[in-house]
Amino acid sequence: MGKEQRLPNFDELLRAAQASRTRAYVPYSKYAVGAAVLGSDGKIYSGCNVENASYGLTICAERNAIAAMVAAGCTSIEAVAVVTADGGTPCGACRQVLSEFAVGETTVVCAGDTSSHQFSVAELLPSSFKLS
Ligand SMILES: [Zn+2]
Repeated sequence: MGKEQRLPNFDELLRAAQASRTRAYVPYSKYAVGAAVLGSDGKIYSGCNVENASYGLTICAERNAIAAMVAAGCTSIEAVAVVTADGGTPCGACRQVLSEFAVGETTVVCAGDTSSHQFSVAELLPSSFKLS
């Protein structure tokens, strides 16, 4: 079977990320984030950031989306959408976790209210940590 180039549907991914963003639990920072990942199984998994009064326990939207994907039995990501008010990019911890499950040129679209930017996971985290 030949290798097929599938173009991710970013509109659908962005809609899923935006929908999750509306459910972000952010009473402290008020910085709502929604993320959606397209798994290699063709399904979209989404997550929002969930804050805690003990700030260090806060979990990012990206990692919540990835955890949902892994819990469903999928361990590779073809594309990612992250939606914030200002088009913010994933934090360092999330970049490392994205790197764990990214395949090839996994694209990350970071969308804000007025603009969006596109990156590869390798651009976001060059020379990522990997166990050999
Ligand atoms: Zn993060």
